[in-house]
Amino acid sequence: MPTQPLKDKTALITGSTSGIGLGIARSLAAAGANIVFNGFGEIGEINILTASVAQEFGIKTAYNGADMSMPEQIAKMMAEATQRFGGVDILVNNAGIQHVANIEDFPVEKWDAIIAINLSSAFHTTRLALPGMKAKNWGRIINLASVHGLVASAQKSAYVAAKHGLVGFTKSTALETATTGITCNAICPGWVLTPLVQKQVDARAEKDGISNELAKKALLAEKQPSGEFVTPEQLGALAVFFCSDAANQIRGVAWNMDGGWVAQ
Ligand code: NAD
Repeated sequence: MPTQPLKDKTALITGSTSGIGLGIARSLAAAGANIVFNGFGEIGEINILTASVAQEFGIKTAYNGADMSMPEQIAKMMAEATQRFGGVDILVNNAGIQHVANIEDFPVEKWDAIIAINLSSAFHTTRLALPGMKAKNWGRIINLASVHGLVASAQKSAYVAAKHGLVGFTKSTALETATTGITCNAICPGWVLTPLVQKQVDARAEKDGISNELAKKALLAEKQPSGEFVTPEQLGALAVFFCSDAANQIRGVAWNMDGGWVAQ
C-alpha cells in the first residue's frame, strides 16, 4: 500500500480544532490528504496548529472559522475550499455540541443549536459537496454520529435526536450515491476523552464529590464495558479505512467504536 494513499485529495473536517475532529484531521493528513480545518478557538493557536500539521505531513492546510449553525457561513466555507483546492473530496461532518438536562428543563435555544450544529450542518455541507464529488465520480462522506445515534441516554434528548437523525441522513445519502464512486457512512463512538466529555466528567465529580479520576471510572463503568476511553487516533484510523478502496462497498453503515457499549 502506498504510504500516502490520499495524496492529492482534499479533506474538510468540521470542528477540527479540537478532540475527535483534530484526531481525524491528523490521520487523514498522515495519509497524504490536504486538510481544511474548521472550528472555534484562538486564531494564533489555530495558525500554529495548521502550520505544524502541514509541516509534519508535507501537505497543504487551510482554515475556515465558519459557524456550523449558520448556513450562509457554511456555503462560503465550501466555496472557499473549492476555490483553493478544486473541491472537497473527503467531507467529515464532525462539529458537535452537547447539553445535558431533563426535557422539561431543556433550554429551547440549546435544543435549536444542537439540531443546527450536530444535524443540519451535515445537510448543508453534503448538499454543497456532492456536485463536485459527482463530477469526479469519487468522494467520501463520513458523519460523526455517536452511540447516541443508535441508543439513547436520559437527559440528552436533543443530542440523541440529532445523532439518530444523522444516522438516517447517512443512509439516505448512501442510497442517493449508491451507483457512484461516492460513499457515505457514519462513525458512532462511545466515550472519548475530549473537552466535550471532560465537561461531563467535571460535572459528575462535582455532583458526587469525587475526584476527576473516580468520575472518569464511574462514567465508563455505567456504559462502556471495556472500561477504557476510545481515542481520536483510533477513530482517525477508521476514517482512513473508510477512504480506502477496500471500503468501496461499505455504504450507509453506522459503525460503532464503543468498547462494547451497544453490544449490551
Ligand atoms: P470537542 O468539544 O473536543 O470538539 C468539538 C469541535 O467542534 C471543536 O473544534 C469546536 O470548536 C467545534 N465546534 C463547536 N461548535 C461549532 C460551531 N457552531 N461551528 C463550528 N465548529 C464548532 O468535541 P469532540 O468530543 O471531539 O466531538 C466531536 C464530535 O464527535 C461531535 O459531533 C460529538 O458529538 C461526537 N462524539 C463525541 C464523543 C465523545 O465521547 N467525545 C462520543 C461520540 C460522538
